[in-house]
Amino acid sequence: MSAATSTDWIERARRVLPGGVSSPVRSFRGVGEPPLLAAHGDGAHVVDLDGRRYVDFLMSFGPLLGGHAHPRIVDAVARALPDGSCFGLTSPGEVRLGEAIVRAMPWCERVRFVNSGTEAVMTAIRLARAATKRTLLLRFEGCYHGHSDAVLVRGGSGLRALPDASSAGVPAGRVADTRIVPLDDLAAVAAVVAREGRDLAAILVEPIPANAGLLLQRDGFLRELRRLADSCGALLLFDEVISGFRVAPGGAAAKFGVTPDLVTLGKVIGGGLPVGAVAGPARILELLAPLGPVYQAGTLSGNPLAMAAGLASVELACDPAFRAQLTACAAGIAAAIAPVCAEAPFPLTPVWCESLFWLWTGDGPPPRRAGAIDAAATRRYQRLHERLRARGVLLAPAADEVAFVSTAHDAAVARAAAAALAAALDDLRDDPTLRAAS
Ligand code: PMP
Repeated sequence: MSAATSTDWIERARRVLPGGVSSPVRSFRGVGEPPLLAAHGDGAHVVDLDGRRYVDFLMSFGPLLGGHAHPRIVDAVARALPDGSCFGLTSPGEVRLGEAIVRAMPWCERVRFVNSGTEAVMTAIRLARAATKRTLLLRFEGCYHGHSDAVLVRGGSGLRALPDASSAGVPAGRVADTRIVPLDDLAAVAAVVAREGRDLAAILVEPIPANAGLLLQRDGFLRELRRLADSCGALLLFDEVISGFRVAPGGAAAKFGVTPDLVTLGKVIGGGLPVGAVAGPARILELLAPLGPVYQAGTLSGNPLAMAAGLASVELACDPAFRAQLTACAAGIAAAIAPVCAEAPFPLTPVWCESLFWLWTGDGPPPRRAGAIDAAATRRYQRLHERLRARGVLLAPAADEVAFVSTAHDAAVARAAAAALAAALDDLRDDPTLRAAS
């Protein structure tokens, strides 16, 4: 009997997993392609179940700063596993990772570990409401904060594939206490503060919005949010699930010099294992049970394997030589693809922030607000995605998802990616439907 192919596995997956996936974007519906099923990854490459090898810019949506199967992370998990996979007791790994996070983010004094970014944000919102004894939450259209009820309206990431970017099954009452404003619209924030500031518990933001494209904000945006939050006594929550330990060891807060009241972390702090965290000053974090009245718990929280991988990942992220390498790899990819994008037969603008990038395929300059990815931009991204995949390069399977560079994306990978991009664009040169609106 011949070995099972991707097609066999896709069929089998669809019979047991809704949509054949455990998370919707993985269906590749966003690009109208069959999903890519992973067999294994090494460094900057992922290999599918048919043995095809791709330069991977999806990079698991962000946890893998050192690429797939980084030896430090493999070794850390391998060493931890024989001692037991979970205890329901505190173990040193949580203390070590907590200490490493506090060292990198000195404004944080306490860290509560959870199992995902979703849980981290859910807990941060609850904490903010308890700390302020207020209920209103202000957030931004197109930012994604996981899939708890309170944040499932007009959100980013996979939610954008749904009508109005909002989920069914969320009772209106769960979001009645949420105000949603556009990004790049400080006047709208100020208006909510003026009208309802007395009831505002928190302003929640991705400080580098990366779930509806990479929507780089103007200078001073975060500083102004800080000022507006302070003006009414609301807390400022930075959701750094993507940016934390990626854009700098201290995250976007350190990069932009604006300190929030709470930060949510995920992705890099787990090194590819399921970890999230909420961190901040003791006076807020110690409202959590068992010290305070805010309940939060988890059978697998602080899991020793996840903590071991997370500590290895955070140590890498904080190592100056590793960071220099990450910066160099991002610069190498940027330099390699820029001239190719400039010659593209349709609008194609790479937007960069450190080791994150987004290929903006719309007409005009890159947007600062969600909603600019129109039908033309989506179609260009889809066609480009399909051609790149055929030529051995994997981008995230939706026009609004960003791309990630790791320290494994070296000069050889940059050359290969740029060559594949040039060839993919050549394949599309004769398609008049992709051209810019004149
Ligand atoms: N916040 C942000 C900014 C994210 O990008 C994500 C996931 N991409 C989440 C929260 C949710 O994290 P998780 O998928 O681990 O629940």
